[in-house]
Amino acid sequence: MEIKIQKTATPAEKPDSSTLGFGKVFTDHMFIMDYTAGEGWHDARIVPFGKVEIHPASTVLHYGSEIFEGLKAYRKADGSVQMFRPIENIRRMNRSAERMCLPQIPEDLALEVLTKFIEFEQEWTPSAEGTSLYIRPFMFGNDESLGVHSVKNATFMIITSPVGSYYKEGINPVKIMIETNDVRAVRGGTGEAKCGGNYAASNRAGDRAEKLGYSQVLWLDGVERKYIEEVGAMNVMFKIGGEIVTPMLAGSILPGITRKSIIELLKSEGYAVSERLISIDELAEALENGTLEEAWGCGTAAVVSPIGELCYKDNKYVINEGKIGEVTQHLYDTLTGIQWGKVEDTFGWTYKIN
Ligand SMILES: *Cc1c(COP(=O)(O)O)cnc(C)c1O
Repeated sequence: MEIKIQKTATPAEKPDSSTLGFGKVFTDHMFIMDYTAGEGWHDARIVPFGKVEIHPASTVLHYGSEIFEGLKAYRKADGSVQMFRPIENIRRMNRSAERMCLPQIPEDLALEVLTKFIEFEQEWTPSAEGTSLYIRPFMFGNDESLGVHSVKNATFMIITSPVGSYYKEGINPVKIMIETNDVRAVRGGTGEAKCGGNYAASNRAGDRAEKLGYSQVLWLDGVERKYIEEVGAMNVMFKIGGEIVTPMLAGSILPGITRKSIIELLKSEGYAVSERLISIDELAEALENGTLEEAWGCGTAAVVSPIGELCYKDNKYVINEGKIGEVTQHLYDTLTGIQWGKVEDTFGWTYKIN
């Protein structure tokens, strides 16, 4: 597909790598493409970064039809730029779109526009240790009518943001509160779709936990409130008595690409990994008898985030003396090593831009 390019007349200064946070600074341009039923995707364009105008009755503003993705471009020591498993993000976006009645983007078209846009903005990929270019593709329903039905018009965009190192002061294990009131998702709902609505509904519990000094909540299943689901916006894994366990994907959990990569990596190294139900009782027992060796969250932003303390109904449990565990550290080193091109990628996960 032809991509029309309108360059900004006022290019911005690249930010100083040491001041980068997360998602606060955006690059000079953005990608936009529109969908119309019967016509398909059209008008692919790269335009100066700026506000978008939408109709006040636009579907997304009223009925929340929005999905998104999150991945990164990494600058290697030789100056080249690469992404990590972008095809997985594209496939997941199409699965999210199917759930939310938004249009599919053919995989090769999505990969083409993503690659071309990142190539166009590649100078914005920072090079300091641990920094990267965060890529946020998203799609929203954009009918100009209040009728409730699956949409006939949609917009797909990509914005990019240079982001700082997630762990500026070294990896510090976080404190997590197990949420016993709100639920994030139920099977048959939208938990396995990466959609904005899941986040809107999660904020209340997250805010409450933060006020109590915890950095995230750990969600339990929405039906029995008994089985572990995920932690904040990350998947969760435990090492219990030598076995690595993580909740299986049964419809309410977001299928993380970091999660998938960790499972593939650990299996290739001979670790016992199971995807199964993990009850809060099993976890509490393992915490009490000391067989819970490590716990960590995993996702694109942090890669792995060790859990040093879990709070369940006012009981506080410290894990691995509040220190990062051996497997957690190994996963962090290996995955970030592959992403920044310091460790050989024997899996074929990296995707070169230039
Ligand atoms: C994006 C996301 C994850 C992590 O997925 P990655 O592909 O590993 O970044 C986990 N849980 C939720 C709710 C998410 O939105």
